[in-house]
Amino acid sequence: MDKSRKPLVIGNLKMHGSLQSNQALLGAIKAGYHYGSQLDSALCLPFVYLYQARELLQGSAIAWGAQDLSVHTQGAHTGEIAAAMLQEFACTWVLCGHSERRTAFAETNAAVAAKASAALQAGLGPVVCVGETLAQREAGQTAAVLAEQLQPVLALGAPALGRLVIAYEPVWAIGTGQAATPAQAQQAHSFIRALLAQHGARATRILYGGSVNAENAAALFAGADIDGALVGGAALCAASFLGILQAASDAAMG
Ligand code: PEP
Repeated sequence: MDKSRKPLVIGNLKMHGSLQSNQALLGAIKAGYHYGSQLDSALCLPFVYLYQARELLQGSAIAWGAQDLSVHTQGAHTGEIAAAMLQEFACTWVLCGHSERRTAFAETNAAVAAKASAALQAGLGPVVCVGETLAQREAGQTAAVLAEQLQPVLALGAPALGRLVIAYEPVWAIGTGQAATPAQAQQAHSFIRALLAQHGARATRILYGGSVNAENAAALFAGADIDGALVGGAALCAASFLGILQAASDAAMG
């Protein structure tokens, strides 16, 4: 971690939770959070629980956000959710182009960039997810894939790039228990950092995602270009998520 950038740890609850279990999970994370403003942290919940997230987390140091949004601002788009709607529920962040959406909903690189742009226009912080598959890594295509996925996002230009976050999430590491090694993660982050710098963005935070847990977080956060984590499975357990926050805090203070 580089001390010039504030650590950010975001939990992605995916399609998990209920009114009852959210109350317990968010309550326990809130109760265990003691990092003041050293860190930024957030939980991204299913749309229907954003009202509850606001009720439970407002006034705390933990922000909340959504897992997707529409490229449209309003209109005849049944089932879609606009950025302004998320903004009404005081979301800080919104995930754009998570690999599960790229795969299951055929989200293109251009659509992901359009979503990031729509989020920025509504004052939200987009978390743009990128990452290669195992086959692409084994074929030596990781850098080319990342560059292609990021190309329309980079075209948004420096002011926009300064306000969004990139999450490097190798597809083969998501939900598999097989996180990238710290060296693999740092190498990809440093490549993304260089792309951002070429577009005039020097302070953009780059999160690592893919089987992060309380045990491996510290080693990952030791990477100079790793500014935090996007956490899936481990965010469903308060103790695990708090352990990752502790590792981020230690890395930032160390
Ligand atoms: C994710 O969903 O973005 C993710 C990284 O999941 P997990 O931590 O479970 O691999």
